[in-house]
Amino acid sequence: MFRAIINSARLSGAKQKALLRGQQARMLNVHEYISMDIMKGYGIATPTGQVVSSVDEAEHVYVNMLNKGDAVVKAQVLSGGRGLGTFKNGFKGGVHLATTLGDVKKFTESMLGQHLVTKQSGPAGIVCNKVLLVERLYMRREMYLSIMMDRTTQGPIIVASPVGGTSIEDVAASNPEKIFTEPIDIMEGLSEEAAAGIATKIGLEPGTATHAAGADMVKRLYKMMIATDATLVEINPLAETNDGRIVAADAKLNFDDNAEYRQKQIFAKRDYTQEDPREVEAHKYDLNYIGLSGNIGCMVNGAGLAMSTMDIIKLKGGDPANFLDVGGGATEEQVHKAFEILNADPKVKTILVNIFGGIMRCDVIAAGILSAAKQIGMKKPIVIRLQGTNVDEAQKLIQASGFRMIVVDELEEAATKAVAIANIVKQAEDVKIDVQVNNPTFLPL
Ligand code: GDP
Ligand code: MN
Repeated sequence: MFRAIINSARLSGAKQKALLRGQQARMLNVHEYISMDIMKGYGIATPTGQVVSSVDEAEHVYVNMLNKGDAVVKAQVLSGGRGLGTFKNGFKGGVHLATTLGDVKKFTESMLGQHLVTKQSGPAGIVCNKVLLVERLYMRREMYLSIMMDRTTQGPIIVASPVGGTSIEDVAASNPEKIFTEPIDIMEGLSEEAAAGIATKIGLEPGTATHAAGADMVKRLYKMMIATDATLVEINPLAETNDGRIVAADAKLNFDDNAEYRQKQIFAKRDYTQEDPREVEAHKYDLNYIGLSGNIGCMVNGAGLAMSTMDIIKLKGGDPANFLDVGGGATEEQVHKAFEILNADPKVKTILVNIFGGIMRCDVIAAGILSAAKQIGMKKPIVIRLQGTNVDEAQKLIQASGFRMIVVDELEEAATKAVAIANIVKQAEDVKIDVQVNNPTFLPL
């Protein structure tokens, strides 16, 4: 993505992905129609339109608000590349131009309730519960404009291009000289000169009203970004219309999760239907969960320990299925829930628990796992490494429970075993042999 463009010279691909993954988890992503509403509040030009959740509503908006003029019908799905996506029902494209009421009805009907698969969504796609109907813009040119928080310059950076509409990654690959970056000193703010400079760089003619409108939009977007604790503002395409207006034809806003307490109105717009259900479930219980693509489920306390646990799994040739941090002071109920989430995930072939009990007591961890195991069974092999406060009590609880877990003292050994077990299960699955790893008969190694 955009950040990868900025950082590509400095970071390896794997690290970039890990960082982007981590950053996603700390951001609120809202729908295009919500982004446009927020932008309108800052005087930023957006197309006339309305979000709908039924075909009848779409008809009403098309007739009464858009006066049966040409309209763009846009699936509200939290993913980029909707235009090129395909719905699970076979309907192609999450963005369509409608010129008749029949079109509007057909497109809306084909999108609502369906899952849109894009190059970002994963094969399951993301459900489309709402559709945005907007006036069609007659575009002379499509440009690209974004502002994001940048790690390297430790502040906002504007990324802009006279070439928009297509993916900015593609522009970066084919025409890197057409991408301009402008770091902003957050203490100084955005100067008139910098805003005007961006307007020029995206191809607007200095001295014209259109250029002034472009510079004005840059300033308003920057003001909004700071005021709303946004970490990303991305407009692609930014339209220059035939009649010389500058309009945000698409909008993507992300917000800093740490600002939730002072951006309550925005955070109330979170749409859980668009997120990884594992992450949503974890969030409800205040667990820090990030889904990954591997097969070893990790339950850890503290982000640092989570990172090192994932690193050591990689070092031993394994692949983590997630990053689950129960935090420094998790309750038995939270641990119970964490275990349930790992157990329910079909990707997870073995669970590795790595807890260093400081404030967190090892016996609370053990009790949480055992209470979950009693309720749902222990269907997956579990390697458990506990150290620190009340570790002896924890061991006693586990022994008395009758559940067999592979209890080890050292992290390296724990990781080696988890990787070995995950590999056995995976190899068996690859050749379609059904292995039952039945914990009660699964002897401690
Ligand atoms: P994305 O694919 O998820 O980024 O969705 P967009 O909102 O960017 O829409 C996809 C493409 O549809 C854009 O890149 C434009 O080329 C086109 N598009 C969107 N709105 C309009 C419009 O009002 N007029 C015209 N002519 N094209 C539009
Ligand atoms: Mn777009």
